Amino acid sequence: MAQTMRGVYFLEPGKLEMREVPVPTPGPGEVVIKVESATTCGTDLKAYRRGHKLFKPPMPFGHEYAGVISAVGAGVTRFKEGDAVAGTNAAPCNQCFYCKHGRQQLCVELEGRFNFGSYAEYHRITEPIVAQNLFHKPDHVPFTEASFVEPLGCAVLCAQYSDVQLGDTVAIIGVGAQGLMQIQLMKAMGASKVIAIGRAKGRLERASQVGADVLFSSLDGDPVQFVKDQTGGLGADVVIEAAGSADTWTQALLMARNGGTVIQFSGLPGGTQVSFDATKLHYGEITMKGVFHMNPRAAELAMQMLATGTVTVKPILDGIAPLSQVEESLLKMQRSEVIKLAIVPSLAE
Ligand SMILES: [Zn+2]
Ligand SMILES: [Zn+2]
Repeated sequence: MAQTMRGVYFLEPGKLEMREVPVPTPGPGEVVIKVESATTCGTDLKAYRRGHKLFKPPMPFGHEYAGVISAVGAGVTRFKEGDAVAGTNAAPCNQCFYCKHGRQQLCVELEGRFNFGSYAEYHRITEPIVAQNLFHKPDHVPFTEASFVEPLGCAVLCAQYSDVQLGDTVAIIGVGAQGLMQIQLMKAMGASKVIAIGRAKGRLERASQVGADVLFSSLDGDPVQFVKDQTGGLGADVVIEAAGSADTWTQALLMARNGGTVIQFSGLPGGTQVSFDATKLHYGEITMKGVFHMNPRAAELAMQMLATGTVTVKPILDGIAPLSQVEESLLKMQRSEVIKLAIVPSLAE
């Protein structure tokens, strides 16, 4: 195996650097993988543009991955060299207040347990992740799709928190990667009608490809009125906000029927204030929830959804790019030219 490798580092907002660094070696309970795919993520783009509370640069960059195990640390029994795997970027302690109360995504240890560095030829997977959130990749799932385990795990937790019922109408604001996965999960969980709300027509066509029943471009009018018109004036049973603006957070509440559930899924910049119609929230008995990250069960389900085809990520992946094009790939996302790209380090530059 090579002694050194190339890896992309995040230095500060707007600044990435390719470095030649030693190939990591696995400590006890850890593995090192040869990265076959590291998908670009909206969170990486946020960090690159404005910084992010979970990113402490300078640091290795990239957190979605699939690859082949190249070295195994002491005590690892579930995996061996040569295994094809994919996994997530953090794992809970299972001992703190939140873990014991079934909210592992709120684990007090989580912030210190995020593992970055998948935009590299090799990537070290830390012990808690190997123990809880690393999975064997089925042969029929390509690496570029298996590296969706992390974002799909977040979508799965969101779907579980939505309380969607058989026959429900669900409005999903945002047709990026999360919205497009959410559409499929809502249909799988029994929603009769999924209304996808976006802007660009091309994106909305993808929503239709993955199963959305009704499409609406917010460039064409008021999405709140549209959802009401689609539901006999009541509003949707479940609303999922996955667009990422204070305005869409406000709209999400107004789209829900009385007694309905609103999930505020997208994270806004630190300190953002959002105003709500308090009358609607109170007299309409709306349940509004924030959902963040995932837990090990959601991660496991994500791999299962990819393996069974319950969720297909093909329409979300816009292609592959070499390691030298991480920055360019993020800029393409920013310009809405692509939703997601898979960085493939073995790809010729
Ligand atoms: Zn991600
Ligand atoms: Zn914990």
